[in-house]
Amino acid sequence: MDCIFCKIVQGELPSKKVYEDDHILAFHDINPIAPVHVLVIPKKHISSLMEIQPEDKELIGHLHLGLQKVAELTGVNQDGFRVVTNIGKHGQQTVFHIHYHVIGGRQLQWTM
Ligand code: AMP
Ligand code: ZN
Repeated sequence: MDCIFCKIVQGELPSKKVYEDDHILAFHDINPIAPVHVLVIPKKHISSLMEIQPEDKELIGHLHLGLQKVAELTGVNQDGFRVVTNIGKHGQQTVFHIHYHVIGGRQLQWTM
């Protein structure tokens, strides 16, 4: 499958890993918008939040615990951070392998 995040999971493309276990991978965004900008993905290819299936419930819960771990590992758990998943055209999704942006390390604003 021609998916850059699947290639990162398979080690065919490099990444700066923050956390990995059997089911999820977290790595630094190549184009960070804040001092901490990490992407957390399931190793399983799911194209977006809208493609999550009932059988993925445990995996998505596990991924949320992974978000906690990434927040602790990067130190943003103290002052807070934001988790974002973009969906489709209006959401400006550019990579169609579900990913959660963990953004922090500075004061964020709320703008649309
Ligand atoms: P989105 O726009 O929500 O689909 O986010 C895709 C994100 O993936 C962007 O923030 C990109 O900077 C990031 N990105 C694209 N290619 C890579 C890569 N090879 N390694 C790390 N981050 C990447
Ligand atoms: Zn993929």
